[in-house]
Amino acid sequence: MNTDDVGTTKTIGTDEGVSIDAEIVRVYCPACGEEFIGTKRGAGGFIAGHEAYHEFVNRQDLIITSMGGA
Ligand SMILES: [Zn+2]
Repeated sequence: MNTDDVGTTKTIGTDEGVSIDAEIVRVYCPACGEEFIGTKRGAGGFIAGHEAYHEFVNRQDLIITSMGGA
């Protein structure tokens, strides 16, 4: 999977099944700028994973700040 694949469709087999004519999309995380190229399903996992991660890290920072730490 690379930038040339964005906008194309692929039939991709996974352990769970086959995605027929899955569109390859490119998304990026506004919080850290990381980019992902892959199926929409993969992109959904990427976005959800980053949201969860950044929310977690932000919460840790808030807790540390509220305790008077750095
Ligand atoms: Zn991110």
